[in-house]
Amino acid sequence: MRTAAQTDLIPMPDLSRVSDDSAPPDEAQPTAPAFPSTDVDEARARDWDASHVMKTYARQNVTFVRGSGPRLWDAGGREYLDFLAGIAVCGVGHCHPRLVAAIQEQAARLMHVSNLFLTEGQARLANRLTALSDMDRVFFTNSGAEANEAALKLARKRGRQVGGENKVGIVSALGSFHGRTIATITATGQPKYQKDFAPLPGGFSYVPFNDEDALRQAVNHDTAAVLLEPILGEGGIRPATPSFLQTARELCDRHGALLIFDEVQTGMGRTGDMWAWQRYNVRPDVLTSAKGLGGGFPIGACLARGTCAETLVPGDHGSTFAANPLAAAAANAVLDILEDEKLAQNAQTVGAHLTSRLDDLRARFPQTVGGVRGLGLMLGLELLRPVAKQVLTHCLQNGLIVNAVGDDTIRLLPPLVITRQDADAAVAILGKAIAATA
Ligand SMILES: *Cc1c(COP(=O)(O)O)cnc(C)c1O
Repeated sequence: MRTAAQTDLIPMPDLSRVSDDSAPPDEAQPTAPAFPSTDVDEARARDWDASHVMKTYARQNVTFVRGSGPRLWDAGGREYLDFLAGIAVCGVGHCHPRLVAAIQEQAARLMHVSNLFLTEGQARLANRLTALSDMDRVFFTNSGAEANEAALKLARKRGRQVGGENKVGIVSALGSFHGRTIATITATGQPKYQKDFAPLPGGFSYVPFNDEDALRQAVNHDTAAVLLEPILGEGGIRPATPSFLQTARELCDRHGALLIFDEVQTGMGRTGDMWAWQRYNVRPDVLTSAKGLGGGFPIGACLARGTCAETLVPGDHGSTFAANPLAAAAANAVLDILEDEKLAQNAQTVGAHLTSRLDDLRARFPQTVGGVRGLGLMLGLELLRPVAKQVLTHCLQNGLIVNAVGDDTIRLLPPLVITRQDADAAVAILGKAIAATA
């Protein structure tokens, strides 16, 4: 049997400075790692991982040990600019002092009591989140997939109530991504996530993204809900056309179906407003959130408005961990930071700056760089040659973390706290990486 000796543990970084409320926000960008590389035996960790963690992830060859703002440090002490933010999770940046302090304080007070009991932080979070999203009620979860599960259960029960036994159909988009549970891979319109896991639940159908005619064909009186991402995230940063979302809204109204927006990736300020639906001005009945909601602490939410928010009653659904005092404290701190630092606004202004710098790359490399897709700080750089993996690797070796979707898209999801200078620094590294593929 293997035991974790005390010496195996990574030492805590010095957090004394986080309690210093007088420190300006820029203080959160140190230039040296808090502990030396020798504290982490990277080779041994890689061996344990390879031997004992199920092989579901193709990991990059780097081990991070510390983060601050938009920066990360690896076990060798190298600094990186993080333009992925843990896949749109660390919107407020790594280890934001206010988030760290909120979690530390709550951890020392009370972490968990179960949802059999009321806790103040969860109620406060519910009040704030519903107000921020124009919704009436929330069901809390621990992840994005679970938030979508809750939305699907709500839609099916409500469909039956208003339209009888057959009103259980779920229409979603090809190329979408809604999570990894059996129901959410079924809603996910990509066979690669579904293969090997049949039989899948019935009642799901798919339309090509942005195809309004296909949507008109697919939605009928047996439709319980239309489930859409306003911008396909895992599907390569592909924004919906305004008329596609408007058509979805009209069809749902006409057929008494719910419009569910999966804003797990697009929400929490990412696109330049709190939610992408606000940028499109198309209001869903049900809204799901996760990723950025806890700033790195796992928490998700399924929000609903109007009578459908009354659908789920005692016994219908539940979660042991969801929005426990610790998770709620993290999410409340994230909302404080988003509001006080106007991060959605920053996503809009720095996002516009980053977009124009990325457009310059197209002018510099017309053979390799196509267009820029996305909104705010959710951007996809289209490549005209299948070199996305090469570009990603080159960026990583030069201190920039990005993500590749397929062979031809570089996905950028930086923390919402980045400055124009951070954007310029990232584009400079991207430019070198693209030049190196020629
Ligand atoms: C990441 C993601 C999910 C799944 O979230 P998990 O927390 O991994 O379960 C669902 N929908 C969208 C749009 C996502 O980007």
